[in-house]
Amino acid sequence: MNPKMFDILCCPVCQGDVVLSDYEIACVKCHLRYPIEDGIPVMLAERARKSS
Ligand SMILES: [Zn+2]
Repeated sequence: MNPKMFDILCCPVCQGDVVLSDYEIACVKCHLRYPIEDGIPVMLAERARKSS
C-alpha cells in the first residue's frame, strides 16, 4: 500500500489521523480499527471495531 494514502485518510468517526497497524487501519485518536479489503481501506464507521 502506498504510504501517501494515509495523508488523505482520516477516521470517519472522529476525523482523527489513521495509521497502518497489523493489516488494519487504526485511528490514533479514538482507537477504532478499520479493515483493509483487497488493499483498499474500508473507512466506514459500521465496519469499525474497537481495538483490544
Ligand atoms: Zn477515530
